Amino acid sequence: MSYPIVAIIGRPNVGKSSLFNKFLSRRVAIVDDTPGVTRDRNYGLCEWGGKKFYLIDTGGIIPDSKNDLEKMMLAQSEAAIEQADLTLFIVDCQTGVDSSEQKIARRLLEKNKQVILLANKADDETLVQERFQFLKLGLGEPTPVSAMSGEGLYEVLDRIAEIFPATEESPDEGDEVRIAVIGKPNVGKSLFINRLIGEERVIVSPIPGTTRDAVDTPFEYEGKKYILIDTAGLRRKARVTEDLEFYTNLRTLRAIEGCHVALVLVDGSDGLNVQDLRVIEDAARARRAVVLAVNKWDLVEKDMHTVDILTAEIKKIAPTLGYIPVIFISSLTGQRVVKVLSIVDAAFDNWNRTVPTAELNRLLEEAVGKHPPAAVQGKYIKFNYVTQAGTRPPSFQFFCNFPKLIQKNYIRFLENQLREKYDFSGIPIRIRFKKK
Ligand code: GDP
Ligand code: GDP
Repeated sequence: MSYPIVAIIGRPNVGKSSLFNKFLSRRVAIVDDTPGVTRDRNYGLCEWGGKKFYLIDTGGIIPDSKNDLEKMMLAQSEAAIEQADLTLFIVDCQTGVDSSEQKIARRLLEKNKQVILLANKADDETLVQERFQFLKLGLGEPTPVSAMSGEGLYEVLDRIAEIFPATEESPDEGDEVRIAVIGKPNVGKSLFINRLIGEERVIVSPIPGTTRDAVDTPFEYEGKKYILIDTAGLRRKARVTEDLEFYTNLRTLRAIEGCHVALVLVDGSDGLNVQDLRVIEDAARARRAVVLAVNKWDLVEKDMHTVDILTAEIKKIAPTLGYIPVIFISSLTGQRVVKVLSIVDAAFDNWNRTVPTAELNRLLEEAVGKHPPAAVQGKYIKFNYVTQAGTRPPSFQFFCNFPKLIQKNYIRFLENQLREKYDFSGIPIRIRFKKK
């Protein structure tokens, strides 16, 4: 249920980011191609040879000013080696073997981790021969590749796909609502979880996480069953890598994969920042139901308008995520902590919502009547009908004569029509257009 992680490591300038981009843009079907508003992506869910995996670039991480570059790079590699199922260790044919590379190689051997050694910048035959100097890393013969020309990249992808077992789609066992509690460090995830599954709630004994890298805690409240997927507690086990955003990202991704509803916590006394937004986006990209809880509400000096101001701020920062419900809580005092569950329940129901086809087509007819699509390139767009193609989240397929010509603002218009009529609060619904 959780996709394997392939991490790209190596010292600066060997071409990690170039390879990452090449893999993602040219060669691999990116399963999720929603552009993010917050960053250049440094990971992507890829599919090759019927196998899905996360590809992660550790290159783009800004070094901590307190640490020197090499130390930081080694720490990143360490985290990657620890977390990844497969490591792509990149070296540079145009420079020699570096002492830091020997350290990384030793780590890989010690940990007995799966690794593919790639000798990049093997742009021509002479450079291809240079790869043999890396034999002394003890990781076998490196595979020559060139991010510049694209040489050798298909073969690498084939090897990756061979290593992993066939991807299983998330099984949907049980009737529990699976909630991932996510958010950047120190927003109060641990305290929230302790509060939520405090004495009053029945905790069914914690089981080792079905999502690796997270702890699953089943519990019941008012006769309803839930599973909390907690990434917070794990931090203590991995002190060294605690501050690496990379590491936080991985944990978050895995928790999201295993959940139905992503509960994103932010620190209300601190306001919403880009890092928070990334977490929200990650959840929305993965098409999970999303609920935002503004925690530490006890620290926020309030007047009558505080909620409005904060809500407006959130909508301003993330206008495309305006459908996400927001609740203001304090894990310290317990204020509204339990109420979170009712919002989670509602989001879960919306995620599973099915709309009858007849109703959808009435909605389409009314929408087009009110606001017909403009002609594009002299062509008139005519809709045939619409159906719901699936749930979790609900996805809608509109059939029309020129699916490629539908403009962004018209898609938004249709989405808004759907949201006005049905409760899709918290749900990144999908809309697709097809020729009949
Ligand atoms: P990173 O720091 O490891 O992520 O390295 P980058 O991807 O930023 O690449 C460092 C430099 O190497 C850039 O100037 C790239 O254009 C260059 N580069 C990357 N791959 C190749 C390659 O296959 N051949 C050549 N000649 N240059 C490359
Ligand atoms: P995590 O890293 O997200 O798991 O955050 P923790 O649960 O460890 O909380 C970080 C710090 O924030 C701790 O000192 C908590 O006591 C504090 N904290 C968490 N929630 C609240 C809250 O609602 N109000 C206040 N005042 N402090 C909180």
